[in-house]
Amino acid sequence: MLYIVGFGPGGYETMTVEAVRALEDSDLIVGYTTYVDLIRPWFPEKEFLATAMKQEKERCLLAIQKEEDGRKVALVCSGDSGIYGMASLVYELAARDEALMKRIRVIPGVTAAASGGALLGAPLSHDFLTVSLSDLLTPLEVIKKRIRCAAQSDTVICIYNPSSRKRGDYLRMACEIALEYLSPDTVCGYVKNIGREGEEAAVLTLEELRDTQVDMFTTVFIGNSHTRNIHGKMVTPRGYRLEEEAAAAQERT
Ligand code: SAH
Repeated sequence: MLYIVGFGPGGYETMTVEAVRALEDSDLIVGYTTYVDLIRPWFPEKEFLATAMKQEKERCLLAIQKEEDGRKVALVCSGDSGIYGMASLVYELAARDEALMKRIRVIPGVTAAASGGALLGAPLSHDFLTVSLSDLLTPLEVIKKRIRCAAQSDTVICIYNPSSRKRGDYLRMACEIALEYLSPDTVCGYVKNIGREGEEAAVLTLEELRDTQVDMFTTVFIGNSHTRNIHGKMVTPRGYRLEEEAAAAQERT
């Protein structure tokens, strides 16, 4: 059995019961060093195997190999295991063996859009899309086009991988594209280290966000034209009806 487990943003409380059971059922837990260190204290009796950050393919192959040796393996990812996670890579690598495919279980987790959104308020209550600013696997032109289409269609944008040492100015670039279509006052937010030490959330304008430096442990939210800052909470109304009703009520008075 090979579980691909999304363990949520970082705290034990935000893991699903299903994820906890999958980890308890495993005898070997494989993951990126930082995540292994995070999880180890919760499952002290388990064996762990840690690999370096960029070796994702090697990590998946290692997990598959251990499973084929007869171990019950859990490959851990932060957040959700299918959202910018390793589930797709494992399936691609396992495609050669149908029996192996049947022994793979994807266990979902609370993705950063959901856990970060909860800390900010309720930014994703209407249509939204997620974009990763990492150009390791996606051409920069495609990333820019997706940001542009989202801003043009007034869709809330949730940005994963907003920054890295080599891409320090990518968030600025994304904000500049958004500013072509959205007001500088558009309500935005970012959340850093969700569920981990150093957790930090901020609500700010699009113009302020453009001039903000964030790191790779941050998730960024760009609101739509209806998103509001309600006493420091980033809130996107669920639709247009309530506002229309309020305007109509005002007209009647
Ligand atoms: N599978 C993960 C996403 C992995 S991509 C998920 O579903 O959440 C890595 C990006 O996710 C980071 O650059 C950051 O934008 C976001 N992220 C993951 N964990 C986070 C956390 N604890 N706090 C803030 N952002 C996080």
